[in-house]
Amino acid sequence: MGKSHFSFGKFLAGLLFPPRCLCCGAVTGSSPLCANCSAKLHPVGRDPCRFCGRERDRCRCDYGKGLLFEQAVSAYYYEQTGRALLQRFKFRGDIACYDQVLAPLFLEKTAGAFHQVSFDWIVPVPMYEKQRGRFDQTGYLARSLSRHMGIPCRTDLLKKLRKTPPQHLQKARDRGENVKGAFTACKKSELQGVCILLVDDVATTFSTLNECAAALKGAGADRVLCASLMTTAGKIKNQGDQHE
Ligand SMILES: [Zn+2]
Ligand SMILES: [Zn+2]
Repeated sequence: MGKSHFSFGKFLAGLLFPPRCLCCGAVTGSSPLCANCSAKLHPVGRDPCRFCGRERDRCRCDYGKGLLFEQAVSAYYYEQTGRALLQRFKFRGDIACYDQVLAPLFLEKTAGAFHQVSFDWIVPVPMYEKQRGRFDQTGYLARSLSRHMGIPCRTDLLKKLRKTPPQHLQKARDRGENVKGAFTACKKSELQGVCILLVDDVATTFSTLNECAAALKGAGADRVLCASLMTTAGKIKNQGDQHE
């Protein structure tokens, strides 16, 4: 009796609130994305550049030149469905976009890429203190990686000193200036000789990750490697691209 009531309740809920695509809102049946949006979610392919984490035809990092961290890995390109899901996750705190769609590949890819590295801590790129109260998307990603990889997450080692305009609104050449000196390391005595996995939501020109890596290494950290949920697509050679 109880069981049939439960099933009927579920049936009714399914009629009233059918599962919808997290990206476009179309009724999907059971999966979190419709087939159309799913086809427009672009994972970073296999065997990417070992320095910047983009596929080779989109990499312009010149074997890591100018990067202040050892290596970066990203799960998806920040375009189409990926961009829409990340914006919902970041600005509306819609964790289903991450938990139900983006998390498995991000966790698997990061843990796989760095399985030979002995990290001491996972550190999210911090937000400016006065922006706290907003959903902390990098903290959420870092805690998720922390549980998956069994490495403690530390949010007290890196601090953002000022508010910076969103990186994606800056011209590529201004992005380095935009975040210059915006981050500082805390608890320097704890940073001596450690190996850190630095976590961000989207890597654009890598200026933010570079600034954070510089602050951590300047304070004594030995190694900094990076994981970002997404990376901007960059240019596919000989094609225009609006991001950079
Ligand atoms: Zn859809
Ligand atoms: Zn590269």
